[in-house]
Amino acid sequence: MGALTDKVALITGGSTGIGFATAQQFVADGAYVFITARRQKELDQAVSTIGKNITGIVGDVSKPADLDRIMATIEKQKKHLDILFANAGVATYQRLGEITEEEFDRHFNINVKGALFSVQKALPLLRDGASIILCSSVVGSKGLGNNSVYSATKAALRSFARTFTTDLKERKIRVNVVSPGAIKTPGLENLAGASGDKLEALFANTVPLGRIGRPEEIAKAVSFLASDAASYITGAELFVDGGFAQV
Ligand code: NAD
Repeated sequence: MGALTDKVALITGGSTGIGFATAQQFVADGAYVFITARRQKELDQAVSTIGKNITGIVGDVSKPADLDRIMATIEKQKKHLDILFANAGVATYQRLGEITEEEFDRHFNINVKGALFSVQKALPLLRDGASIILCSSVVGSKGLGNNSVYSATKAALRSFARTFTTDLKERKIRVNVVSPGAIKTPGLENLAGASGDKLEALFANTVPLGRIGRPEEIAKAVSFLASDAASYITGAELFVDGGFAQV
């Protein structure tokens, strides 16, 4: 029996990167998984790669009406949720002095408003004792250059997890944060403007473990937080960063 057997999960932003790897891990661990993404083609591709126990629903997490439609689809198909991984997020470097209102709004709308309303709109479906995991980042606790807006969105998620833990304690819903370091995904390739060995070289020597991380390494940590093995863990932040933000 897998660690997530009979559990129903929603992963936002599940067509690529960390969200996709987590969907693969959850299904391998026995869960039924709903993934969302904005583009039908990428979503269909992800669903067909995973192949079973998965449904894709198109939607933009920054649009509350899309989240209503996503929750209605889940309610119709499975009636409830046991796990929510609020993963969808965007990142771009913005130099202080050149930050635009549009980019500020885009980051906060997707990363912060999107995560908040993903949680709030999932609440009627989440069973008592469910597990919510918010995807933050090492940058929520670091001051890396040209990264203030994105970093502030991720710090907001860390704060949400603390308050949600208190808000949801009567229902025994656990709320935790996973904070990845540099992980080889399309998102990081876009941010860094590099891929392959060049991407590795940009990050590897700042990490105690001497390499960039793999999406599967985040997926395993998220699956742990989602599972009953983490039954006494709530309000916590789990760094999966090769030691980057720990030393
Ligand atoms: P990615 O770009 O490969 O994946 C992001 C996913 O979010 C995609 O599926 C994308 O379609 C989806 N998405 C983006 N905006 C959306 C929206 N408005 N509505 C619905 N879906 C949307 O990036 P990734 O690296 O896998 O990032 C996943 C999460 O991990 C993000 O929250 C990111 O901030 C966080 N993170 C990534 C790293 C890293 O190094 N890769 C490090 C720390 C944190």
